[in-house]
Amino acid sequence: MAEHESLEFGKADFVLLDTVSMEEFMANLKLRFEKGRIYSYIGEVVVSVNPYRAMNIYGRDTIEQYKGRELYERPPHLFAIADAAYKAMKRRNKDTCIVISGESGAGKTEASKYIMQYIAAITNPNQRAEVERVKNMLLKSNCVLEAFGNAKTNRNDNSSRFGKYMDINFDFKGDPIGGHINNYLLEKVSGWLGFHIICVFHLQLLSGAPDSLLHSLHIKKDPKAYTYIKIGGSGNTSHIVLLHTAFMIGFTGDEIQTVYKILATILHLSYINTDHGPFYYLNICLLEELDLLSTKEENVEKALLYRTVATGRDVIEKQHTTQEASYGRDALAKAMYERLFCWIVGRINDIIEVKNYDARIHGKNTVIGVLDIYGFEIFQNNSFEQFCINYCNEKLQQLFIQLVLKQEQEEYQREGIPWKHIDYFNNQIIVDLVEQQHKGIFSILDEACMNVGKVTDEVFLQGLDVKLAKHAHFSSRKLSPTDKSLEFDRDFRIRHYAGDVAYSVVGFIDKNKDTLFQDFKRLLYNSSNPVLKGMWPEGKLRITEVTKRPLTAATLFKNSMILLVENLASKEPYYVRCIKPNDVKSPLLFEHERCRHQVEYLGLLENVRVRRAGFAYRQTYPRFLQRYKMISEFTWPNHDLPSDKEAVKKLLQGCRFDHDVAYGKTKVFIRTPRTLFSLEEQRAEMV
Ligand code: ADP
Ligand code: MG
Repeated sequence: MAEHESLEFGKADFVLLDTVSMEEFMANLKLRFEKGRIYSYIGEVVVSVNPYRAMNIYGRDTIEQYKGRELYERPPHLFAIADAAYKAMKRRNKDTCIVISGESGAGKTEASKYIMQYIAAITNPNQRAEVERVKNMLLKSNCVLEAFGNAKTNRNDNSSRFGKYMDINFDFKGDPIGGHINNYLLEKVSGWLGFHIICVFHLQLLSGAPDSLLHSLHIKKDPKAYTYIKIGGSGNTSHIVLLHTAFMIGFTGDEIQTVYKILATILHLSYINTDHGPFYYLNICLLEELDLLSTKEENVEKALLYRTVATGRDVIEKQHTTQEASYGRDALAKAMYERLFCWIVGRINDIIEVKNYDARIHGKNTVIGVLDIYGFEIFQNNSFEQFCINYCNEKLQQLFIQLVLKQEQEEYQREGIPWKHIDYFNNQIIVDLVEQQHKGIFSILDEACMNVGKVTDEVFLQGLDVKLAKHAHFSSRKLSPTDKSLEFDRDFRIRHYAGDVAYSVVGFIDKNKDTLFQDFKRLLYNSSNPVLKGMWPEGKLRITEVTKRPLTAATLFKNSMILLVENLASKEPYYVRCIKPNDVKSPLLFEHERCRHQVEYLGLLENVRVRRAGFAYRQTYPRFLQRYKMISEFTWPNHDLPSDKEAVKKLLQGCRFDHDVAYGKTKVFIRTPRTLFSLEEQRAEMV
């Protein structure tokens, strides 16, 4: 609680609002933003508004101010919850996690970097060398991941097209000893547009490379050579240098070369023109360039032009139509990119994972997890990607509800403290709508993909209409023909906790299926480059041996979300809620409506209500005494009262804080942070 912060900056904690209403919340948020106070609290949740300008609040001196302090002793800051998470981990041996959510461009990735920077800065200086090593690896691996996971979207120049969960492992002394990364890449980049983004990005990246490298990758230095991909300006040398040094955390020379070769191949593939029949250019110029894959030239050609089909016991080769050929080429480029990304993450994990740590000797190895994940997305046109993203946010909201709201209410009940029931919307019904076996949207989609005969987006939509006709949170053109918000026949709508979103079914089937022809998998598996070969293990199967369908994108995504939420639920959570003040990246503009909407779907008001009905701080009686017994003559050095509970009562009555406190069965609950702040001050005077 930033009590010493003047009220001219608004209320540092929304819990202290005079009344809890959207108007007051927004007024306070706006005031703070305009006064340059980008962080606020709701209890222990940090609310952050993207300042869109460099802030002088992340330096060494600021770090020192937060180090070892309690949350409420300093103005709201990311560093305060980073410190809280670190303390919980170090003092109480708790695994913790910091969940950073918000929409694209709201400042999540920046926040996760500041948190990591803080944690790195406060760890043990005696072990600098080792700490530096792990810290560097974590930051550099982040650089590699950003280079590969990001793309320009219309909302954010550097939007992470994936969610990232990073564990930092600590030894019993609280020093980092390694880490682990999970990525949630939305691999099926949307169609040609997304594909072009990748190509342009990598052309820009690669064109900063030295001539010799460009030459070996068959990349022409003149960007005009790539008329097909229309690139503006020339490449930026610093990008490739950064990436190259980041790779130095432990990638071998061969591995780095292979990464560049794959990127270059994706680029070359995009340059294969299908306008003049299947691969007019192929024979003329590209075979040599595609040799970067270290497969036999004629095999590349064959895989691009034909596919092998098993009919009973016979195996025949079928030539692609023009359409099939260009479809196959795109699928290949996208799949190569996706595999490359996953392989990079896997290698980073090999490099940074905790080694030689024996818990029996060294004590428990604890974890701080940082989750940086895409927030709710509502575009003009919403497709499979937005559907997945929004499902993910429903899952996270459900977790938040369970952990914060439900747990809070349940704890008061357990402790026998009177509780005024708070109404909140439980979004489990929407989570079920998406993920339930058989009846859920993902299942209906998978079913449509396995349909014998026609497999189209319309079949999927029909499935939805039949199975979800009565669902309160689902509708479609067919089910509500008069609904103006459903503009197109192929739209369906979900009533998310954050608001209504209309999705177009177009492309769902395609993005859900693994569409890569087997021939490509075999081609790459048979590469003489062992790094590349290793990315395509299933290419080992001969055509007649391929029986199992690969898992669909929906199933993979659902499984990874379920695992993620299970993992988060096992840790002590801290939250950062990021808000994007405007769409034009302005440091001055606070677009009221835009922000109000975000406050609404982040559930922030509900959060304030529960916090206010509740207590800012709670602690078991013995632990409370341990910390504060020196401030009362009744408890110092020991008390002779019948129980710790009685002793705490006596102590707090003595300080006249009794009115702000409730005594539970095992814990004392303090309503306002102010009280705790005074206790801390008195304690500081005594010790
Ligand atoms: P997200 O990960 O939520 O999509 P980012 O973290 O990439 O968003 O932030 C988008 C942009 O906003 C950044 O590139 C940066 O320019 C600006 N930004 C975000 N947070 C801050 C901050 N704390 N200080 C200054 N600029 C910021
Ligand atoms: Mg990001």
